[in-house]
Amino acid sequence: MAKKLFIPGPIDVSPDVLAKMSEPMIGHRGKEFSKLMMSATGKLKRLMFTDNTVFLSTSSSTGLMEGAVRNCVGKKCLNIGNGAFSDRWHEITTSNAREADFLSLDWGKAVTPEMVDEKLSTGEYDALTMVHNETSTGVTSPLYEIAKVVKNHDVSFIVDTVSSMAGTKVEVDKLGIDVCLFGVQKAMALPPGLAVCSVSERAMEKAKSIENRGYYFDFITFQKYLDREQTPATPAISQLNALDYQLDKILDKEGLENRYKRHEEMGNLTRDWAKKNFALFPEEERYSSNTVTCVKNTREVDCSDLKQKLADKGYVFANGYGKIANKTFRIAHMGDRTVDELKEYLSDIDGVLGL
Ligand SMILES: *Cc1c(COP(=O)(O)O)cnc(C)c1O
Repeated sequence: MAKKLFIPGPIDVSPDVLAKMSEPMIGHRGKEFSKLMMSATGKLKRLMFTDNTVFLSTSSSTGLMEGAVRNCVGKKCLNIGNGAFSDRWHEITTSNAREADFLSLDWGKAVTPEMVDEKLSTGEYDALTMVHNETSTGVTSPLYEIAKVVKNHDVSFIVDTVSSMAGTKVEVDKLGIDVCLFGVQKAMALPPGLAVCSVSERAMEKAKSIENRGYYFDFITFQKYLDREQTPATPAISQLNALDYQLDKILDKEGLENRYKRHEEMGNLTRDWAKKNFALFPEEERYSSNTVTCVKNTREVDCSDLKQKLADKGYVFANGYGKIANKTFRIAHMGDRTVDELKEYLSDIDGVLGL
């Protein structure tokens, strides 16, 4: 029997969504494909609250992180790191031969508008990267407050919403995000293999003047093909079938506000459980994520033993990640996960640990 995935991606995919993956193939240079692509793209704009251009990428999110840097960093980039994924962005930027400074925060801290404003005020940067929801630490940075100060500076605002999009509200246009990217295997509850980004008009203009944008993730090439309602290379057609279908469920069947509310409820439930039995890893509870909780292992529970016992009960348990792997573990509560399933999981952990 399939195990329930309580890891922060990939997560469980509903059987009806999975069935959409097995529809017959169509050619990617035909009308039928264009119709599918434009249907999904239109729905993605609703999900992201944007009129910006939306590109589909047959890659995981990391591919678009690289793409964003290659297309939008001309002078120097400020990479703000407060966990494994945001830290990785500095590696991505420098390994693509772009100049970059790394503002490295202690893991567990949130990015604040004050630190962003201070750094950008130096005038040294033409781009800024950050992660909205740090999946390694369970910290959600205050994006709305940060966006307000970013607006005062002439920089490309590049945001990873990989594990928040579709679980937490992110209004791209209101926030003025130039490149907002995410993969589909987290709060979207789809099989991995497809990533999405929105790109603002001014970022598209800027990209034209940037050299060495690379080939596979060149936004200008993406645009050229989007004008024909196609993708540059062969796309993951099966993924797109599932995406288009799942977007209907998210937008119309459940509704975005209900989806955010369900995630908030799951976040609250898990935080209460964590505080009662362990402690939260994020320094401030108000910045704790509603899609994944990072728990400080204050009881020094043997996580590999716990993992095995939970596997016997039909679950996949999430260890800590990166340099905090030994002192934390995580509970993902995202996607199509129900509150009742989460309650059952937490009570099964209680059972195993004798809490
Ligand atoms: C999972 C994740 C990534 C990496 O996604 P891939 O699909 O593995 O490329 C990047 N950022 C965040 C915040 C993530 O949670």
